[in-house]
Amino acid sequence: MPFNIMTLSMVDRPIGLTEGLKILERDQFRCQYCGLDGKASFENALVMSVDFVVPRARKGKKDPANLVACCRPCNMIKGTRVYANIDEAKKYVLRQREELRQAWEAKRARPGAGAASS
Ligand SMILES: [Zn+2]
Repeated sequence: MPFNIMTLSMVDRPIGLTEGLKILERDQFRCQYCGLDGKASFENALVMSVDFVVPRARKGKKDPANLVACCRPCNMIKGTRVYANIDEAKKYVLRQREELRQAWEAKRARPGAGAASS
């Protein structure tokens, strides 16, 4: 397999490149949590990865059913918590992202405004 951007982004993953690419292709290079399109740009491609729905640290299996395409920010937010299923994980990740977005937007809208209540 030629070295490319997809292989580069999975260098540190505990799954094989062929296996990882199969998962990304199955999910059409789209983050299964936030929907980020890994094919849309170089920047997006760089952050694409493969996520263990049940983390390896929690005895998650290296099985296609337990693997999904995922961007690194979502992967980081999801962490090693355990969820009942991918829908629950997705809800958690999206809620966290929304909170982060609101905090970021509040800060941007009122630079140096201190703790303004909303
Ligand atoms: Zn994502």
